Amino acid sequence: MVQIHQNEQQWITKDSQYIWHSMKPYNPDETLVVTEAKGCWVTDLTGKKYLDAMAGLWCVNVGYGREELAEAAYEQLKKLAYFPLTQSHIPAIQLGEKLNELLGDEYVIFFSNSGSEANETAFKIARQYHQQRGEHNRYKIISRYRAYHGNSMGALAATGQAQRKYKYEPLAPGFIHVPPPDSYRDNDQAENPRDLRSVKVIDDVMTWELSETIAAVIMEPIITGGGVLIPPEGYMKAVKEVCEKHGALLIVDEVICGFGRTGKPFGFMNYGVKPDIITMAKGITSAYLPLSATAVRKEIYEAFKGTEEYDYFRHVNTFGGHPAACALALKNIEIMERENLFARSREAGERLLNELKNKLQDHPYVGDVRGKGLLIGIELVADKDTKEPLDVSLVNKAIGICKENGLIIGKNGTTVAGYNNVLTLSPPLNIEDDDLSFLINTLTDALWKMK
Ligand code: PLP
Repeated sequence: MVQIHQNEQQWITKDSQYIWHSMKPYNPDETLVVTEAKGCWVTDLTGKKYLDAMAGLWCVNVGYGREELAEAAYEQLKKLAYFPLTQSHIPAIQLGEKLNELLGDEYVIFFSNSGSEANETAFKIARQYHQQRGEHNRYKIISRYRAYHGNSMGALAATGQAQRKYKYEPLAPGFIHVPPPDSYRDNDQAENPRDLRSVKVIDDVMTWELSETIAAVIMEPIITGGGVLIPPEGYMKAVKEVCEKHGALLIVDEVICGFGRTGKPFGFMNYGVKPDIITMAKGITSAYLPLSATAVRKEIYEAFKGTEEYDYFRHVNTFGGHPAACALALKNIEIMERENLFARSREAGERLLNELKNKLQDHPYVGDVRGKGLLIGIELVADKDTKEPLDVSLVNKAIGICKENGLIIGKNGTTVAGYNNVLTLSPPLNIEDDDLSFLINTLTDALWKMK
């Protein structure tokens, strides 16, 4: 029989006994055991409340405690609890149609459960697509240093953060990394975006590797976990042109940037490109249930209609496109539209960015404050002239002061994004004005106290 534990310490002790936490060295004192949440606020075992300015792991886009989402899943589970997408069901069809409406173009959708799987799916589709067209040598995937694309052997191979790969290698072969644009640290400017150093390097690498071996480039519109790197004007469009020049596909990872995070339905919509493949997860259900999707341009899908034995896509997952998750995702998108959350992300993001910039401009450790929509990065440096990254112990101190004062900000395990010196913010898109004020005041106070 399940024992009911009243004493909070017992939960913490049992947590350390039974739960293997992600991205965290063993330290039971730091573990936050959360019992409930509403809006932007989570409550821990002791009843203490925290404003969750990371929306979980950049994912609870419509905020916590939405009963209509629970009801959408409940109603669907009663009606049809499960059926695989080797066949079909109505919530998946409806969600496929709705995603097309949001994407503003014709895409065919393959559903999975997580961002990692959505990216794995994209890599397999890209590789097989070229094979289908007789281009048998195109298998290499280009991605960028500092980006994270997932935990599985392919998605981790695409990831450009060595700290995440160390001790797990060798990973999947065929992945090549290029440096991302870093507008704070590099003076990468050009009149014609095709001349940006960060674009030319992709063009050159494709040439040096031989164009006919390149299957795809994968990129987030804005690198998120790697330090919130806003690209220079015209960058993404120029990368797409380079892909076209070399016959490679552009896969856009919208796992974080999608569903309003940057103030538009999808991040790529800020940059005037039409991706070949789009991967999404997190915000698709606001993390109320696991679901991800790989949206593929219709022409690519058509290439899989050959009549040879292995021409079709031989890829399956049991739970992908689960009916309850699809029904919930539809309701989640309905809420985003009903409450104008894409516009809210733009407006609230602008206020957050401007006020943080104002309050922190004279702070000796604040090198840069940047963002788009409700996706913000604050880069901390020891010296504003040399831009030497601030020691991670001081960065963690700021995060600790925030936590003590009831504010959760971005931190991944022992490291923080970028050079371990970028604080990140990604609150629910429906954050209210008062909560935004609390966030701004608590964070700026912590940074001034941390000196
Ligand atoms: N892509 C990006 C940009 C991510 O941030 C993440 C996870 O944080 C993933 C992919 C992997 O998603 P998941 O953790 O759902 O597998």
